[in-house]
Amino acid sequence: MPSYAYVCKDCKKSFTVTMSLADYEKAKVTCPSCKSKKVEQKPATFFAVSAKKS
Ligand SMILES: [Zn+2]
Repeated sequence: MPSYAYVCKDCKKSFTVTMSLADYEKAKVTCPSCKSKKVEQKPATFFAVSAKKS
């Protein structure tokens, strides 16, 4: 299962979330430290396929 790296804009902590692509598409990612929803995904260092949706 792929991991996604995020950084919280509120507390500046970075964290990773492991989830399936199906979960990722509907995921509401929140910061595990402060529960903020203001998280930003970091560019993945390894991203197998960048599926472009239209
Ligand atoms: Zn936070």
